Amino acid sequence: MIKIKKAIAFFAQKKGLSKDGFFLNDLVKFLGELTETDYVIIDVFKRNNPLVAKTIAIYAKGDIIPNFEYELKCTPCENVMGKSLCVYKKNIQRLFPKDKLLEDMNVESYIGIPLWDSLGQAIGLIAIMHSKPINDSETLELILQIAANTTSQEIEKLEIEKIVQRRTKELKIKNKQFENELKERKLADEALRESEEKYRLLFDRMPDGVYKSTDEGKFINVNTAMFKMLGYDSKEELLAIDIKTQLYFEISDRESVALKENSKELGIYRMKKKDGSEIWGEDHGWLNYDKTKNVLYHEGIIRDVSDRKKTELELIIAKEKAERNATELNEQKILFESMFNTISDGVVITNINREIIVANNGMKNTFGYEPKELIGKSTQILYDSDNSFNDTGENVFNKKNKKKENTYITYYKNKKNKIFPGETFGAKLYNNDGEWIGNIGIIRDISDRQKMTEDLIITKQTYLDVFNTVSEAIYVQDETGTFIDINKGAENMYGYTRKELIGKNPLLVSAPGLNNIDEVQKKSAKVFKSGISERFDFWAVRKNGEIFPKDVIINKGRYFGKDALITTARDVTLIKRTEQELIIAKEKAQESDRLKSAFLANMSHEIRTPMNGILGFSDLLKTPNLSGEKQQRYIEVIEKSGKRMLNIINDIIDISKIEAGLMNIEIKESNVNEQIEYIYTFFKPEVEAKGMQLYFKNTLPAKEAIIKTDREKLFAILKNLVKNAIKYAKEGSIEFGYVLKMGSESVDEIQNNELEFFVKDTGIGIPKDRQEAIFERFIQSDIIDTMARQGAGLGLSITKAYIEVLGGKIWVESEEGIGSTFYFTLPYNHELKEKNSTKDNEVTDNTENRIKNLKILIAEDDEASEMLLSLHLSDFCNEIIKARTGLEAIEACRNNPDLNLILMDIQMPDLNGYEATRQIRQFNKDVVIIAQTAYGLYGDREKYLDAGCNDYISKPIKKDHLAALIQKHFKK
Ligand code: ADP
Repeated sequence: MIKIKKAIAFFAQKKGLSKDGFFLNDLVKFLGELTETDYVIIDVFKRNNPLVAKTIAIYAKGDIIPNFEYELKCTPCENVMGKSLCVYKKNIQRLFPKDKLLEDMNVESYIGIPLWDSLGQAIGLIAIMHSKPINDSETLELILQIAANTTSQEIEKLEIEKIVQRRTKELKIKNKQFENELKERKLADEALRESEEKYRLLFDRMPDGVYKSTDEGKFINVNTAMFKMLGYDSKEELLAIDIKTQLYFEISDRESVALKENSKELGIYRMKKKDGSEIWGEDHGWLNYDKTKNVLYHEGIIRDVSDRKKTELELIIAKEKAERNATELNEQKILFESMFNTISDGVVITNINREIIVANNGMKNTFGYEPKELIGKSTQILYDSDNSFNDTGENVFNKKNKKKENTYITYYKNKKNKIFPGETFGAKLYNNDGEWIGNIGIIRDISDRQKMTEDLIITKQTYLDVFNTVSEAIYVQDETGTFIDINKGAENMYGYTRKELIGKNPLLVSAPGLNNIDEVQKKSAKVFKSGISERFDFWAVRKNGEIFPKDVIINKGRYFGKDALITTARDVTLIKRTEQELIIAKEKAQESDRLKSAFLANMSHEIRTPMNGILGFSDLLKTPNLSGEKQQRYIEVIEKSGKRMLNIINDIIDISKIEAGLMNIEIKESNVNEQIEYIYTFFKPEVEAKGMQLYFKNTLPAKEAIIKTDREKLFAILKNLVKNAIKYAKEGSIEFGYVLKMGSESVDEIQNNELEFFVKDTGIGIPKDRQEAIFERFIQSDIIDTMARQGAGLGLSITKAYIEVLGGKIWVESEEGIGSTFYFTLPYNHELKEKNSTKDNEVTDNTENRIKNLKILIAEDDEASEMLLSLHLSDFCNEIIKARTGLEAIEACRNNPDLNLILMDIQMPDLNGYEATRQIRQFNKDVVIIAQTAYGLYGDREKYLDAGCNDYISKPIKKDHLAALIQKHFKK
């Protein structure tokens, strides 16, 4: 009770409560001491977390300790707070095992009471805890109830005080803030005023235009830069304009400006100046709105960016241009590349060292190299030789070479080492600064072209060769006949050059007055029109005036793609002449045929007459008991006839030799004087027997009268002529001789000097028209002249042939009934040297005397001939052996090794003379063999000599001739 009283007294005393809040500490201390418990605590809820309690006063075992907070969960306080009085007299820890605080404080017992505020809200608790069980809990409960009331009030009061204090503090802060704001506003006002001034200055002095305008399109304010920029004189002037129509070119422009301003974006717009010109402004503008989001006005800054814009536009144009150029360049590059590679010719680009940098696909066609194979290689590999490479260097690609380009043909070598001719365009390449940077070569294989050109040249040459080789004249003429081209044959034919004839009319080569030119022209025109050839004769004239006939054929043809007349003309002079000659020859042949018949008849007569004599008188000789005188007369007749016949046969043989071209001449030195004298001596008796005179005339001294000629033939000539003179004269005289005719001044210069011989008679003469004919063969026979009937008519023709072969000529001067003089010449080829002309005769005489003892074999099958030979040889031998055949002759020769001479007949049975001689020569080389032959033709001599004969003699054999031969071979 006491305790209760003490409690009441305490709370009464402390009724007014403490103002400093320490009362609660006093309270817990009082309660602790009063209740004699270890711990007294007063808790309140944590304002913002009702699960956590916060002590506001703690009494622990006599002391006030610092406050703390703790979790209400699983504590005895949880059951108290906001609820009701709880009393745990003992074992409290066992009841709340999770309450660590109880354990820490070593509490055994617990009494707690909740605290409520004046409004009945739970605000906290008061609890007492003791380390021993509580026995008197009722008193303690009472005390706590008394304390709770006062404590609640106290806590409430403390809370209110706290709020008041907080409020006051807040007010003070607010007040302070307010004062500061006031101060700041004052400063701000000041600054505003200042900045407004600055703004105004800035506004007016800004280089950019500043504006403020209404949404409807009126400027409210603009700065100086603005109106000047737009070309206005004053601010007012600009304020007066209608923005939509006067500031912009298009109304839509303003709308796009507004759109940008709305999004506060920077834009560049085209605007119209006062004078209507264009200005580009960079507008940094924005819109101002009222509270209802209506546009109040536009504001912004405009910078004149016309220059920039212009530059930009220019840049754009430049860029577009550049892009265009780039595109073009690219296109050009593509074009170039495709072109470069499409070229079938080989193209290489090199550096200045002639190493390949680029090669096209054409290099594959031309050289067989892939372009990439060539890169980095020297162009040397493309040439057939180092010389070609160096030459082209000299010509184009070397540093020293000043020529920038050149086209040339050189020889190249492809990948397979085949050499081919290439036509090359080579050029040096220079950069923009004029520096030499490399070379380009474009190479074309011209093998085909070259071959074609060669073929063409050959074809052309062949054509020209053919054209010019033809001996006929060929000329090409146009429709009017004008010469377009002519060949060599035409040049030769007319004597004009090609140049002289081309372009000329054929009248130039027409013999004046001999051709019907109109007719010829008509023919030409006809050929040109119809294409049908024409042929006619034409009299042409050469440049030298010579006129000649020609045979002309005009054809139509083509000349280098044009219609033309192709005319061939042949000089027919020769043909015409030949025609004439043929006619003459024919007449002549007919004549000779006639003559030959006459000749044969005459010949028959001439041979039969002496034959008649010979045979007839031979027959008479057989008459028995014929007187010696008669015998002698008959034999004379036979001899005369034989001689006459021999003459005829000799003449026939001579003429045959001449006809056959087998005349044999033997040139020796011959004394003309001697020959003349001999003839004189020979014929003198015959002439004088006719009662006529014979004279001779030697005009040169003996030593100058020696010429080189055929002695026998000269003798025959003179003999013939003198014989004829005797034959054709009955009376008067015959004179013959020679004179020297000088071709040059001096006798020593024998050139062209000749001896002119003459045989002059006072005979019957020769009619003029026969004077030439008498030299022709067989001519005598058709002369109806009894005197002329003695002879074959061959003498003069043989004479003429002899004279001609000795280098002279013959002619006659004659008058019928008066006489004839035959002349002939011989070259006077005398050499000045002493000659002993009599030596031969002397030797002959001496030798003849000595040759007497020869042993001779006569090989002859004909008995008469053998007999004759035996008689002729009787003077020279002491023994004659006879053989009838070739074999016998060989045999005889073998048996008589001492034989000196064999007279070998050629025509023998068994073995002929040639073969017999050949065999004899095999064992006897020394015996002299003389062939005897009846042929006497030229060429036989060689045959005999070849067979091994030493000489030959013609039948009939004359004693003199035989003697001369024996002398020749046996003189010692
Ligand atoms: P041949 O005398 O044998 O008849 P030639 O040939 O010697 O033959 O002569 C040819 C002809 O020329 C003779 O027939 C004769 O008519 C004529 N003739 C030759 N010589 C004379 C001459 N001296 N005087 C006249 N006529 C001659």
